[in-house]
Amino acid sequence: MKEEEIRPTVLFEEYLSLAEKDITTFFSGAPCKEVSCPACGSEDRVFRFNKKGFDYCECRVCQTLYVNPRPDEDIFNRFYLDAESVRFWATHFYKETERARQDLLITPKAKMAGALIRKHTRARHANPVVVDIGAGYGGFCVALKSVLEKPYIVMGIEPALALQEVCREKKIHVIPKFLGDVGNEDFQGCEVVAATSFELLEHLYNPQKFIRDCHHILHQHGILILTTLNGKGFDLQMLGDKSRSISPPHHINFFNPRSVRILLERQGFEILEISTPGKLDVDMVSKQLPDVTCPFVRELISVSDDNIKGKLQAILQETRTSSHMMIVARKK
Ligand SMILES: [Zn+2]
Repeated sequence: MKEEEIRPTVLFEEYLSLAEKDITTFFSGAPCKEVSCPACGSEDRVFRFNKKGFDYCECRVCQTLYVNPRPDEDIFNRFYLDAESVRFWATHFYKETERARQDLLITPKAKMAGALIRKHTRARHANPVVVDIGAGYGGFCVALKSVLEKPYIVMGIEPALALQEVCREKKIHVIPKFLGDVGNEDFQGCEVVAATSFELLEHLYNPQKFIRDCHHILHQHGILILTTLNGKGFDLQMLGDKSRSISPPHHINFFNPRSVRILLERQGFEILEISTPGKLDVDMVSKQLPDVTCPFVRELISVSDDNIKGKLQAILQETRTSSHMMIVARKK
């Protein structure tokens, strides 16, 4: 898989330029607060770089990279409700890449999640529910329904009105709420045995609260499957602040295999698996070779053909050093 297939350059550039304008509209002169590490809670940190007006610090305890100080949470909320770049992502970017994303990302992800759910949840529950947090266009729920047979029931949690409609058109049972407002009454007669959340953690103002809310909706021993960016991953380490994944105000938390474990364990989960099944690190680094800080890696990539690059990517997956990370955890 190549980045171009799921993130065509022209569309992605337009999205990034809109995001830049949104920063001026929403965030310039905004009041900011110091925050502690979103993973371990430490205040011990070191400044790494400033990007587009946002300071990124690294926790000295767990090496999570995060935006600090942070503009107030209600500014982020307003941004996600009204920003041009957010609208562009939903109306143009996502729609125009939906087919490729469904085939290349979502269907394989659903197969992997389905296998994990069967492996880690017990069939003895009467009405076992699997819930996708932030169901969006419902693509993942549709794919998961086709890989998980009965008795599993697939549902989505989606607070955005327009997206709830899209989910219903696809015959997905949708809970029209923010995660923090979801309670047992939304799952009457059912038990939530698994919850999924993809590429959300890096956006959240308060990841601790999010994980706590996940813990709250899960049945005892239920599992949580998350994907997020790995700040210790290859392309993020090689490109540093030049990485296009470091894109404020969207991406403000970069956990790593060690720190995401701390985050989840603090909220009552035990870790079952942490992997980095990413496919795009080497491709992204190849496309930004002049920005790579390490001369050896620059040389290595420039002498590698597609076959060798594929092998390098496989090594990143095996050594848990890709920038795309997946976590499976169980509620204790
Ligand atoms: Zn930390």
